[in-house]
Amino acid sequence: MNYSDVFREIASELDEIEDRGQLAAYIPELSHVDPSQFGACLITTKNEQFFLGDYKTTFSIQSIFKVLALALARGLRENHLWDRVGVEPSGSPFNSLVQLEYEQGIPRNPLINAGALVVCDVLLTHLKNPRQEFIEFVRDLAGDQDIDYCSRVADSERRTGHKNAAMVNLIKAYGNITNDVDRVLDFYCDLCSIEMSCNQLAQAFLFQAANGINPLNGREVVSVGRSKRINAIMQLCGFYDEAGEFAFKVGLPGKSGVGGGIIAVHPGKYSIAVWSPRLNAKGNSFKGMKFLELFTTRTASSIF
Ligand code: GLN
Repeated sequence: MNYSDVFREIASELDEIEDRGQLAAYIPELSHVDPSQFGACLITTKNEQFFLGDYKTTFSIQSIFKVLALALARGLRENHLWDRVGVEPSGSPFNSLVQLEYEQGIPRNPLINAGALVVCDVLLTHLKNPRQEFIEFVRDLAGDQDIDYCSRVADSERRTGHKNAAMVNLIKAYGNITNDVDRVLDFYCDLCSIEMSCNQLAQAFLFQAANGINPLNGREVVSVGRSKRINAIMQLCGFYDEAGEFAFKVGLPGKSGVGGGIIAVHPGKYSIAVWSPRLNAKGNSFKGMKFLELFTTRTASSIF
């Protein structure tokens, strides 16, 4: 199928809609982004590529990293990880502290901030050079050595991320963080700050549409079973308290970030990344959500 015409059609429809979203100004550095930018890129498992607008411009991937962190934790004893983090949808905002106390420091799932902090802790314990190994993992997935951290964004979040600091301390108090809390927070902020384009993201996530194999080099990134489980977690938890809405309207496993990016995959078919910086009230890209809803509906290509 040639998706280019559908892309263009949807883009011109979206131009008519007022963008009611807001930039993620709670991380001051993210408020300097030009909000009028928009990009999309779809890559099929047969390596056909379709793109639109600012698909080569890099942006802060923020929470999208959480899925890649989970994938990198693949070699670590899985049962142990699932003792420390749940796999249930939270129904709460990404930075909520409320459930954590009720559930004694075991975060609901690895895609809310609390759960991602625990995954970061696991990676810090098991990797020799966590920061370096993580970025190399992402570069290999995307087949692009230029991908990097952004220290401005990471520092900006370090200065203002008081809720995340509260969260990691609370989890530590329940004994579910083994490393020093500042080290975990530092690592978390670094991973959030990685900058990628829609093109790089679609490429990097293609393994989740290909049973865990990176189609670029034929290498296994995660096992078939783990790939299935990661998609299931994205489907149920990727959009926090808007996960039901995303399943209802878009119908693909996916993950958003407060940089305005969204990645979604259709197992067996394609991965698609969209980017529009203004966010709706739940912290997900306002226009990105609409684009994907129109796309899967027009092309009849949701998983449902
Ligand atoms: N760095 C962001 C935070 O912790 C990530 C949240 C997101 O992208 N939803 O607040």
